Amino acid sequence: MNNTKIMIVDDHKENLLALEAALSSLNYEMVSMRSGEDALRYLLKEDIRDIAVILLDVQMPGINGFETAQLIKARENSREIPIIFITAISKSIENVLQGYGVGSVDYLFKPFHPELLKLKVEAFVKLHHYHTEIRTQGEALLKRTSELEEANNQLARSEAIARMIAETSIDTVLILNDSAHILKANEAAVKMLGYSPTELNGRCIGEVLPELVDPRDKVCLQTLIENAAAGKILEGQAVRKDGSRFYADYQLGEDMVQGRRFYVCSIRDVTERKLQLDLLEKKVLERTEELRQSNERLKKSQERFKKMFTSSPCLTAIYRLKDLQLVDVNESWKSHTGFSIADSYQKSDFMEIKKAEPTDGEPYQLGQVYRNLKITYKTKDKQLRDGLLSSEIIEIDDEKCLLQVIVDVTEKVRYEKEMTRFDQLTLVGEMAAGIAHEIRNPMTTIRGFLQMWRKEGGSMSPDFVDIMLGELDRANGIITEYLSLAKNKSSHRETKQINSMIESLFPLIQAEALMTGKDVKIECGACKEMLLDEMEIRQMILNLSINGLEAMDMGGVLKIRTFEEEGCNVLEIIDQGCGINEEYLRKLGTPFFTTKEKGTGLGLAVCYSIAARHNATIDVNSGAGGTVFSIRFALDA
Ligand code: ADP
Ligand code: MG
Repeated sequence: MNNTKIMIVDDHKENLLALEAALSSLNYEMVSMRSGEDALRYLLKEDIRDIAVILLDVQMPGINGFETAQLIKARENSREIPIIFITAISKSIENVLQGYGVGSVDYLFKPFHPELLKLKVEAFVKLHHYHTEIRTQGEALLKRTSELEEANNQLARSEAIARMIAETSIDTVLILNDSAHILKANEAAVKMLGYSPTELNGRCIGEVLPELVDPRDKVCLQTLIENAAAGKILEGQAVRKDGSRFYADYQLGEDMVQGRRFYVCSIRDVTERKLQLDLLEKKVLERTEELRQSNERLKKSQERFKKMFTSSPCLTAIYRLKDLQLVDVNESWKSHTGFSIADSYQKSDFMEIKKAEPTDGEPYQLGQVYRNLKITYKTKDKQLRDGLLSSEIIEIDDEKCLLQVIVDVTEKVRYEKEMTRFDQLTLVGEMAAGIAHEIRNPMTTIRGFLQMWRKEGGSMSPDFVDIMLGELDRANGIITEYLSLAKNKSSHRETKQINSMIESLFPLIQAEALMTGKDVKIECGACKEMLLDEMEIRQMILNLSINGLEAMDMGGVLKIRTFEEEGCNVLEIIDQGCGINEEYLRKLGTPFFTTKEKGTGLGLAVCYSIAARHNATIDVNSGAGGTVFSIRFALDA
């Protein structure tokens, strides 16, 4: 102990030196003081913890040894320091010493024995060391105690926090022991599961989370350990006290406390979320079902298309749009055309399609979209047939294709042509009698004049010759017209003036009218020239005029009138006949509809088809005073 100090207090320097010398072998540090005041001052100011003993001279000027000792003992800090008085006075010392108590004060008489001094000092130093040790141990104890207290406080605090978290948490918290039984449940858990506060304690977690019960050993410890180690959030169902179940997410964790294993289980009621999820799932299912149905519908419609395609009486073909390669045709197409798909590779004479009525416009082009285009097509055995062609771009298996549908109208066209011819023939037949009569009249006139000429010896007034020539011209005109009607001329349109056609037909119509005591008037207004098939227009005018004449009684006047109105040339045939009743009006134009004993019922049907070919419409206005047929030819077409 090298920092142990010994204080020596003596007013005599030689005494001090003697004491120092006596104690020098002990190897302690000496603090030498020349007076009681100095010693007290030192003890006040310096660190005195290392002072093991004070050797105090009793007889000193100023404060003597006893007084100094009294003051040292009076002070808290220095009270414990042992004091050894060194004195020459022997008599009263025993009495004095009693005032200081035993153990901490001793004395030596002068002249002192150095060995005795050393022993006493050593004993006191040892005592001092004990004291010091005890003090430091005490201090350490105090420190440990306060540390312990702090640790305890911390523990209490963290426990309180944990409790607070557990008890205020909206999630349930269950603390489980190492055999999967509940040790403690927080308030949320109790509430969620419908138990009273302590009822959960001691129950197996499997009662709350049946999915944790291992089906093999009916114990949930194993699954608990596995899941706790994984730390995952698990989805499942939890069971309330009353047996009802609800969707729950739960998480398991494990911890060691003082060498014991615990599990923490937190459960969250996710019924709401689950319901929403279910709803979502239901919606997804519904959508899927919708999709499936629409797919089915699509499939059905594809099947329908397929059926329609194969069974359609129309010639149906599908071309790939990008290279216009024929990819599929139906039976009807094959039987009508005589071709097969393979034939389409030899492009040269494969099914030639042309517009039936070549206009100035573009020729027919495969790959373009058309609606009811009148066409002709050539079959494999070089027959020319008529058709109405429509085409459409469709998608088959994500490939753009051209669907081409041709309605074969060869029969219809032939029938129409036939009908036209038939009508012409009928008309011609009907008119034959009247015409014969008309021709007979001038012939009779001429015959009369010629008889007269012979009777009178070959002289004749030039007036009569003019009359005869006039009669001959009239007859010739009628015959020409008659013949032209009977001719089956093929249709062709030219830019013509409708008025001139009416004028040239006039003698024929008038002949017809006069024969039955009626009259005809024409009123030709300004009309623009237009594309007309002369034969057809003449026939239309004749048909309508004859109908008008037939509808009238003797004395009736038929009027044929033309004018231009709102971008149209209008032709009107106006009669003063019986009119057409409502029921018949609807049937007008139907082939073979007739109210006449020897009628054909074809006249109007032919008129309607002619009008259609000329882009014209026919309006009928009928009443008690007669009937007006108005044919309006659109001029811009
Ligand atoms: P048809 O003259 O051979 O009977 P049409 O087709 O020319 O055949 O006429 C059909 C029917 O329409 C006639 O039978 C007649 O009843 C009626 N009809 C046509 N035009 C007139 C008209 N101007 N006045 C009254 N009835 C008419
Ligand atoms: Mg008729």
